[in-house]
Amino acid sequence: VDFREFSANNRKRCEAHDGFNHKLSDWSLSDWFTALTGELGEAANIVKKLNRYRDDIPGNEESYIELKSKLNDEIADIFCYLDLTAQAAEIDLESAVISKFNKTSERIGYPILLKGD
Ligand SMILES: [Mg+2]
Repeated sequence: VDFREFSANNRKRCEAHDGFNHKLSDWSLSDWFTALTGELGEAANIVKKLNRYRDDIPGNEESYIELKSKLNDEIADIFCYLDLTAQAAEIDLESAVISKFNKTSERIGYPILLKGD
């Protein structure tokens, strides 16, 4: 699956009647950012719990392995919402990421490794 194929399917599932039945345009950009930030918060809460293991602080009800697995899922949720947020803003995320990655590489004198289409 390439990125644009993922993006097309992500939007399709969002909007499909047998998916989330939710048009991209049903939410403002602020609504999309709220959803995205919610997922970031979910991931951060898991990292807080992983830090408890790192720092030997009691309070966790899930094992380290369970938390790592949940972090895996939350980071994936962030990616899905980031993609939908970009689509709602009519931004081609793949092009935007490659362009900004290269601009930053150029600024620090690092070789340009990524080519867009
Ligand atoms: Mg989530």
